[in-house]
Amino acid sequence: MTQIRLTHHYADALPDLVTPWQGANVPGPKILRMNRALADRLGLADASPQMLAGMEVPEGAHPVAQVYAGHQFGGYSPRLGDGRALLLGEVARDGVLTDVALKGSGRTPYSRGADGKAALGPVLREYLMAQAMTGLGIPTTGALAVVTTGESVWREDGPLPGAILVRTAASHLRVGTFQYAAANGDVQALADYAIARHYPHRAGDYAGFFADVAARQAELIAKWMLVGFVHGVMNTDNMTISGETIDYGPCAFMEAYAPGVVFSSIDRQGRYAYGHQPMILGWNLARLAEAILPLIDTDESQAIARATGILEGVAAQYQAAWLSGMRAKLGLAGEETGDLALAEDFLRGIEGADWTLSFRDLGRDMDGFRSRLMADGWLEGWLPRWQARQDDGSANRMRAANPLFIPRNHRVEEALAAAHAGDMGPFDRLTQVLQRPFDDQPEHEALAQPAPADFGPYRTFCGT
Ligand code: AMP
Ligand code: MG
Repeated sequence: MTQIRLTHHYADALPDLVTPWQGANVPGPKILRMNRALADRLGLADASPQMLAGMEVPEGAHPVAQVYAGHQFGGYSPRLGDGRALLLGEVARDGVLTDVALKGSGRTPYSRGADGKAALGPVLREYLMAQAMTGLGIPTTGALAVVTTGESVWREDGPLPGAILVRTAASHLRVGTFQYAAANGDVQALADYAIARHYPHRAGDYAGFFADVAARQAELIAKWMLVGFVHGVMNTDNMTISGETIDYGPCAFMEAYAPGVVFSSIDRQGRYAYGHQPMILGWNLARLAEAILPLIDTDESQAIARATGILEGVAAQYQAAWLSGMRAKLGLAGEETGDLALAEDFLRGIEGADWTLSFRDLGRDMDGFRSRLMADGWLEGWLPRWQARQDDGSANRMRAANPLFIPRNHRVEEALAAAHAGDMGPFDRLTQVLQRPFDDQPEHEALAQPAPADFGPYRTFCGT
């Protein structure tokens, strides 16, 4: 058994942003699933269930709960923090730190009256979603393991099996961490730490740091949009500085294309609807800019001018990343000025049709493609324009850019229901298939199909 060693760089560097803490004791920790590839890469394959539940502290580790603030649905909470999470420490490999953290490991000073626990369903859901995002090539925190605790947690519907998610991350720095530091302490120390860890070429250049975070987030949100991912709770405490997707609560993948689609039951105003995500990106980045404004320039009006300039560029960066992805999805050869209009006309045409299969079938299975459209009168005019932009490489480009498999909501629900009944088969199958979402997997074709009509509109709940 190899010795597991975790560092505590974050805790040492920013003591005002952490509270030393430990996981609660649970009666029967068991590793239900482990992501072997990730565990091997990080040297964590031999971690015990007790360690992964936060009950036993590995050699040299100083686990902490992290504090942060955040705008939740637009309203500011000055003190959120790890209410049910714990940063065990970091794995240091080749000079790069990877956080190892727990979610569901018990109460902390930031629990605000809640129980600090997590139920098996949401933990499995995050494990599945994070792996699906990895398969799609989208930056994300990693899902390392699911540990069942052997105890029940109480939710509205009564007792549910308890579990802990072991999560890895480039870091857990959030926009909300900066908001907290700006309001309570030393935002420069935090910015210096974030720069050293994620943007080392920006040492001392806070405007450059902000521009880099903005660029990475713009690319991330563009990737979400291209696969139809709806995060569902894009609060500033759920937006990372590293550019990884974090906190899979009420997220879901869109089936029928509808810009206004919302899945989360608590998002009654549709603030975080599919089509609003690029706008929220800008809103959240503006909150980051406010938090570091004094670092950008000691003269406030100068600082505002610089930050505003960068923020104004974000929409264009997002648009460029999105259009580049759309060109790949449509198989376009090179770049032409009419491409944006071509893409936008396509989107208008497929409204109401399955997002994923519309792209996958275009040019490959035109009967299938047509059969899903709500209206196809536009197609006659559009197809020749599209065909004029194709070349020999188009089919391959489209194949590589358009997944066949996404975590379809009815399949996710089916997998979680089976897991609750003790059958992990459907969950494992779905997780497996989603590792290679761009490959035809004929034996799993059923997992590529949209939900049957009787599945109805999908509602998700916050994973607490
Ligand atoms: P999230 O929706 O996971 O981003 O969580 C938002 C905030 O609520 C974070 O500060 C969490 O730590 C906290 N939180 C969520 N669920 C729980 C829970 N069961 N116990 C304690 N804190 C929680
Ligand atoms: Mg969160």
